[in-house]
Amino acid sequence: MRNELYIDGKWVAPVKGGTCEVINPATEEVMQTIASATAEDVDIAVKAARRAFDKDGWPKLSGAQRAKYLRAIADGIRSRQAEIARLEVIDNGKPFPEADWDVADAAGCFDYYAGLAELMDTNPEETIALADGRFTSKAVKEPIGVAGAIIPWNYPLLMASWKVAPALAAGCTIVLKPAELTSLTALELAAIADEAGLPPGVLNILTGSGSVAGQAIIDHKGVDKLAFTGSGPVGSKIMAAAARDIKRVSLELGGKSPFVVFDDADIERAVEWIMFGIFWNQGQVCSATSRVLVQDGIYERLLARLVEETDKIKIGNGLEEGVLLGPLVSKRQHDQVVAAIAAAKDAGATIACGGERPEGFDKGYYLQPTILTGVPLDSAAWTEEIFGPVVCVHPFETEEDAIALANDSRFGLAAAVMSKDDIRAERVAAAFRAGIVWINCSQPTFTEAPWGGYKESGIGRELGRWGLENYLETKQITKYASEDPWGWYIK
Ligand code: NAP
Ligand code: MG
Repeated sequence: MRNELYIDGKWVAPVKGGTCEVINPATEEVMQTIASATAEDVDIAVKAARRAFDKDGWPKLSGAQRAKYLRAIADGIRSRQAEIARLEVIDNGKPFPEADWDVADAAGCFDYYAGLAELMDTNPEETIALADGRFTSKAVKEPIGVAGAIIPWNYPLLMASWKVAPALAAGCTIVLKPAELTSLTALELAAIADEAGLPPGVLNILTGSGSVAGQAIIDHKGVDKLAFTGSGPVGSKIMAAAARDIKRVSLELGGKSPFVVFDDADIERAVEWIMFGIFWNQGQVCSATSRVLVQDGIYERLLARLVEETDKIKIGNGLEEGVLLGPLVSKRQHDQVVAAIAAAKDAGATIACGGERPEGFDKGYYLQPTILTGVPLDSAAWTEEIFGPVVCVHPFETEEDAIALANDSRFGLAAAVMSKDDIRAERVAAAFRAGIVWINCSQPTFTEAPWGGYKESGIGRELGRWGLENYLETKQITKYASEDPWGWYIK
């Protein structure tokens, strides 16, 4: 088991030697310890990343040369896919097939950005048409520099890949801190990058706490860009740190996403996508469609089918065959979700199903998938992210009502609509104030398509070409191309 920091191409113990326990959320067993980096380690890592960027020539390589490393990392991930997926399960709790899917997606992300790195060679500059014919001008893209990336525990390897792959493709070097709760697969990623021969300092992965190692990354003057996924309050701190030093910043902060189902929708398909939208990954998904709005013509029938199917979900250790819902990631997360359900009840909501620790599970952070109805629209259960397998279901009458209810949130990450009327679905999709909109589905995520939120759900976009832009500056190069003297001072 790896338990050191990966800095400047070497595995090292932290300067001050702190550790943190790694707990399996399915069994509550302490599996191992990992290193806890402090500001001293972060400083060494940032200096290595600076050297790799400023002197060793990572940004000077051609896109095709960088792409070779990215493809080697993708191959490395795939060659150990099952082993890495297993690590993700015992660290995060998610069912194995979901982890396996995540790991395949992580490899795909490295391949995709390898392709974009190659394209940077063929299309490195854009000619600017100037009205003044004495000048020629072009815009070129250049890497921002050293990126500091901080990620959450819900998709550990995938979130690491969403940051590392585009940063390296762009020619940036990077210092990454995984979530303390789920660091094991990020350490495997470091090992794979090392085996791929990535030059020292280009990728540095430091385990440790947010308040110490994370804070040191965001405060470091040697970091040019901060990339963060996680909670709003921490996102706010990161933006404040970026503001102080005018660092570039991108934030992905979760939400309270709506799923609008019209009464012409197929009920069985709607139930399937509603479940996928909230129970996948135990509902610990930033884009989870946790507010389901159902048109009153099918509300009762749909709710009955949803409860029926939800009650059948197989709960258990993610390593067991057929399990669809694992434990939540930690005791703290479990306690928070249980408290949110209790608060919803106090506010007057009805628990249509779930809401309890499942029978036969004394150990592990398990919770039944939970459906709430009659949730007051001004209560926290309706307005705040719960980040667990808890969905609020609410009826609506008209399209106008549905749009108003859907958009009445300080968040705007995702939104979904289901209807057989394609024109109506497109109209509602256009009306949603959200960065990601799904029609007749919820949650499918594609490396090629932009990902990010409106309003308090974040700033900037990851994935696709937008994800690469996150790590690029734009430089104007203008040339005086006339034979005539300029003639202002010297006539
Ligand atoms: P969080 O506190 O925002 O943690 C995300 C990352 O930020 C972790 O790596 C964390 O380190 C780090 N961090 C914490 N404080 C920091 C600081 N001062 N400076 C720099 N980095 C810092 O999220 P969480 O505690 O894992 O989850 C809390 C809530 O956030 C959840 O209940 C959920 O509502 C939301 N969330 C959203 C997403 C999303 O995808 N948008 C993902 C996860 C959670 P540690 O290793 O110490 O945790
Ligand atoms: Mg863990």
